[in-house]
Amino acid sequence: MHLVQSRRRPGTRGITGLSEAVVDLSAIRDNVERFRQRVPQQVLAVVKADAFGHGAVPVARAAVEAGATWLGVARADEALQLRAAGLSVPILTWLYDATELVLLGDLDVDVSVSTVAELQHVAAIPSVHSVHLKLDTGLHRAGSAPDQWIELTRTAAHYEALGAVMVRGIWSHLSHGDAADAVQSTRQLQLLRTGAGLANRAGLRPDVVHLANSAGALTLDAPDTNLVRIGAGLYGIDELGIGLRPAMRLLSKLTQVRRIRAGEGVSYRHDFVADRDTTIGLVPIGYADGVPRAAGRQASVLCRGVRMPVIGRIAMDQFVVDAGELAVEPGEPVTIFGDGSVGEPTVAEWAAWAGTIPHEIYCGIGSRVPRRYEEGSR
Ligand SMILES: *Cc1c(COP(=O)(O)O)cnc(C)c1O
Repeated sequence: MHLVQSRRRPGTRGITGLSEAVVDLSAIRDNVERFRQRVPQQVLAVVKADAFGHGAVPVARAAVEAGATWLGVARADEALQLRAAGLSVPILTWLYDATELVLLGDLDVDVSVSTVAELQHVAAIPSVHSVHLKLDTGLHRAGSAPDQWIELTRTAAHYEALGAVMVRGIWSHLSHGDAADAVQSTRQLQLLRTGAGLANRAGLRPDVVHLANSAGALTLDAPDTNLVRIGAGLYGIDELGIGLRPAMRLLSKLTQVRRIRAGEGVSYRHDFVADRDTTIGLVPIGYADGVPRAAGRQASVLCRGVRMPVIGRIAMDQFVVDAGELAVEPGEPVTIFGDGSVGEPTVAEWAAWAGTIPHEIYCGIGSRVPRRYEEGSR
């Protein structure tokens, strides 16, 4: 094999380990600000699932710095992590076990409540809980069935009068948040409006009424809500093309480089067989790290400023790229995805190659990939 001197391109710098996810916290802040400019509601930053793989604590801090007034997580342990890191803004959690309620109460974490039975569990905890009553307006996952809502709001008002709970929010979740016409969202908003009116009649005076996720915040005009729950948009998943900035870049490097001859196969079962002599490079990151195996037939990565196709099967810990006649050498930086500005694949491309959505790619980036935080320039 012919080795050449390392020629680092400006702007590509090596990484210390085998792989690295670089998270630009200025992008998180810019994305929060973009929503704050666009919508009148307060922003709840959704940092569930370790902030879609970006790291819950640094992302939550950046979002709060940029003006998010609430944080949202799916689960109790995620709320605990935020409180332990000193984040003191209100936190809402919507999936918990009754055994976790004492902890959540001690941490002053708000919980979602969909049924009278859940409300009774919450009211039985000595520490006063703030709750957000959830109405099912059409997604048909959690939430009170509309015909149980009056009983739920009346029971909540009763417990509130006893000092056992405090109803801080009324909320629901959209089923078609990203639909451009907002027909279903408008229907859901109408139902939530009716539900909020009934809650008011039961004597409840919640601080916040909320319905929309990232896409819904942009498509649905909902002046009777005062909070939007922003997840995808925070990370730069730009479903409606409003100029959000992807916050994460996934980097690796070539750890081995070698020539193979025409007719030789690569990786398990030789799905790829070279039709010419070529140079191949080994990239030490695989499906255990979140590089989707299903993307293998179409995927490519950026190395030395060019797209190199992934060849053969993506394995658990590694995959192989075809460098053709480029004189690459071990240590050469590889960008698996980024914001696309220098020709690298985006997460949206990887999602398309794997038949999934960017959310799942981000959430899948595994614990073997260190996260590094930086402050990029705008
Ligand atoms: C995940 C989640 C969100 C965020 O939705 P995006 O489309 O990612 O903005 C909002 N609300 C609830 C209840 C969620 O589970």
